[in-house]
Amino acid sequence: MRFVDEYRDPDAARLYAQALERITTKNWTIMEVCGGQTHSIVKFGIDELLPPAVTLVHGPGCPVCVTPLELIEKAIEIASIPEVIFCSFGDMLRVPGSSKDLLTVKASGGNIRIVYSPLDAVKIAIENPDRQVVFFAVGFETTAPANAMAVFQAHQKNVQNFSMLVSHVLVPPAIEAILSSRDNRVQGFLAAGHVCAVMGWLEYEPIALEYKVPIVVTGFEPVDILQGVYMCVRQLEEGRAEVENQYSRTVRKEGNIAAQKLIREIFHVVPRKWRGIGEIPRSGLGLQEKYKSYDAEVRFGIAGHSAEEPPECISGLILQGIKKPGECPAFGTVCTPEHPLGATMVSSEGACAAYYHYRRTKH
Ligand code: SF4
Repeated sequence: MRFVDEYRDPDAARLYAQALERITTKNWTIMEVCGGQTHSIVKFGIDELLPPAVTLVHGPGCPVCVTPLELIEKAIEIASIPEVIFCSFGDMLRVPGSSKDLLTVKASGGNIRIVYSPLDAVKIAIENPDRQVVFFAVGFETTAPANAMAVFQAHQKNVQNFSMLVSHVLVPPAIEAILSSRDNRVQGFLAAGHVCAVMGWLEYEPIALEYKVPIVVTGFEPVDILQGVYMCVRQLEEGRAEVENQYSRTVRKEGNIAAQKLIREIFHVVPRKWRGIGEIPRSGLGLQEKYKSYDAEVRFGIAGHSAEEPPECISGLILQGIKKPGECPAFGTVCTPEHPLGATMVSSEGACAAYYHYRRTKH
C-alpha cells in the first residue's frame, strides 16, 4: 500500500481494501469510464490496493482522446484562416492531427488563444467585432452546460462573429457500445460523478438492466474510487446489476434539471464518431437548427475531412478496455508525451499519459 499515506483518509482506504479482500471470490473486470478517475487510479496506485482478482480497465472518458482526427483536421483548417481567432482549452493544442497540431499553427502565426471558459471566447468576439471567433467545444455532458450557455449568450447579445466547432460526446451510448462489442470483458462500471452531477443517473438504469452490469456513480478522491469498486464488486458477488450512487454528496438521481434544460435548448442528440472507436449512434450533441448559424463547420464550409490514425497506435483498444497502455509496442519508445502518436498520450486525462507520467512500466 505504497501511496496510502498520501490519501486524504488513509484509514478509510485501508478498510475498503481489506473489505474487498474479504468479499472477492472470483475474477472481476471493472471499467472506470472517466479519464480523471484513470489518473487518480494510476497516480495513487489504487489498482495496487485491490485483490489480484479485481482488474481495473480504463474507459473512453477522456474528451480530448476521443475527439476524432477529422475534427482536429477541421480545427487546424479553421485556425489557419487569417481573420479567425481560434479559442480552445489548452490540452487540445498538442493533439496530433495527421501532419501537424494546433500548436504548430499557432507557432506559424495563427491567432490561437487558450481560454478557460467558452464564455471567454464570447467576450473575445465582442471585443473583436472585425474578426471571426471560433470556440473548440470538446467534452462530455460535464462541459455541455457551459458551452450551451456560450451559444445562448451570443444569441441573446446578437454576437454574430462567434461560432463553435462542436465535438460533444455522451457517456451512456459509449457504455452500450462497449457492452455490445464481441471483445467486451467489462463486467461492471464506475460512472463518472461529474457527468452524473449534470445528467443524474436515470439513463444508466436501462443499461444495467439490459446488460446485467452493475454501474456505480463514483467520485474522484482515492477513497471514493475504492468505495465505488467495493460497491461494484459487492453487487457482482451478490449477482445484482443495479445503479448505485457512491458520490451522493454531489449527485442526485435526476441531476441538474436547469443545466439539462439549457443543454436541450441549444443542442440535440446526433451520431458522433469517437477517435479510435468509430461512429456510435446517438452518442454526441450537435447544435439545434435554431442555432445552426453558430456552427463553425457551416459558417466556414468545412466538410469531408478524412484522416488515418498512425498504424502502430492502439488507443482505440485502450479506450474500450481491451488493452492497457503497456501493451502498445510504441509506449515510451516512439510514443512519449513529447512526441505523441495518439491522443491518449497527449491529454492530461489520457490513459497512456497517466502510465507514462506515474509508472513508465509495461503494467
Ligand atoms: S502509447 Fe502512443 S501509440 Fe500506443 S496507444 Fe498510447 S497513444 Fe497510441
